[in-house]
Amino acid sequence: MKLFETIREMGHEQIFFCHDFESDLRAIIAIHDTGLGPAMGATRLWPYPREEDALRDVLRLSRGMTYKAACANIPVGGGKAVIIANPENKTDGLLRAYGRFVDSLKGRFVTGQDVNISLEDVRKIRGETSYVVGVSKKAGEPVVTTALGVFLGIKAAVEFRLQKKELHELKVAVQGIGNVGKNLCKQLHKYGVRIFVSDPKREKTEEVKHLYGATVVDTNEIYSLDVDVFAPCALGGILNNSTIPLIKAPIIAGAANNQLEDEQIHSRLLESKEILYCPDYVINAGVLINVYNEMIGSDEEKTLKQLNNIYHSLVDIFRRAKEEGITTHEAAKHLAEERIMRAKNSCFLGVSAFRTSAVQC
Ligand code: NAD
Repeated sequence: MKLFETIREMGHEQIFFCHDFESDLRAIIAIHDTGLGPAMGATRLWPYPREEDALRDVLRLSRGMTYKAACANIPVGGGKAVIIANPENKTDGLLRAYGRFVDSLKGRFVTGQDVNISLEDVRKIRGETSYVVGVSKKAGEPVVTTALGVFLGIKAAVEFRLQKKELHELKVAVQGIGNVGKNLCKQLHKYGVRIFVSDPKREKTEEVKHLYGATVVDTNEIYSLDVDVFAPCALGGILNNSTIPLIKAPIIAGAANNQLEDEQIHSRLLESKEILYCPDYVINAGVLINVYNEMIGSDEEKTLKQLNNIYHSLVDIFRRAKEEGITTHEAAKHLAEERIMRAKNSCFLGVSAFRTSAVQC
């Protein structure tokens, strides 16, 4: 990989390669963009077979965080960190050494929990730095916030695509009844929605059948149901050449990350079928809004209020996509880029209204 060519193309500001001799920590922290505020992004621990794979992952994920935060309309930038290690070799020394590197960035990068990093690990990292979030529940329960954000996204899409203000008697198919899917079903049930669910774990579907009167369907059947909304809340890559032709729902609005197998091809395929797709990183930003509020010391009430940003950003994205004849995926990118550019310009003019003291103009 031509490192500087790649980071120039992707727009990164800084990449830190961190090594600690004692613990053999090998970590990469990528700061993509701090135009809106300090870079925020969770830390992933993974046994990457090649260092280049780790670098590619951290570059891609940190850029995604910039767009996510901008669409959530919160004053943070995009970052991400990866620790190259086997989960069995995760020692206290390694986590603490990593914490010291995070601390050395003095708030330019704020991190939290991702794959193979538990809440307990985050607490160990926090032993060395205060630039860690996800340890307090003062700003609300993250999965509940995520599910509420998805619910607001469904509302925005239903209003835009179906011109309906009420969700009552609407039919929604939820794929995956994990932490988010289950909380989403609870919210949908409250508003009189008819719910259809699939999950390979039978005990999970039986629970929502019992609690919320959901109809349980087979994991392959969920795509072709005659419903108003399909809500993917399980896996990435599920919108692809095989599944899109099966989908009858006019709206796709769910929490799963990286739903489009190929962002360009499959967002266009959905548009050609007149299916309104809620870009995943916009609709599932509830958890980011939650940790941002934890970082600035806000309570649950403030977090819930700010969740409305998801609704408003999606409405903006739907309108732009329609007016400009582009996909919602492209419209979300344009919205994010505009917000970042505006913040940079106002910073340049010395009217930085919402940047935190951790970031220098
Ligand atoms: P989870 O692991 O708790 O739940 C995932 C569920 O999907 C499990 O019950 C699993 O059995 C089920 N599943 C697996 N394969 C399936 C299939 N083929 N068909 C139907 N169901 C299947 O995860 P979660 O925390 O609920 O997150 C769900 C998705 O949302 C993930 O893609 C995650 O990355 C994304 N997300 C989660 C959060 C959050 O706050 N937890 C935030 C943003 C995005």
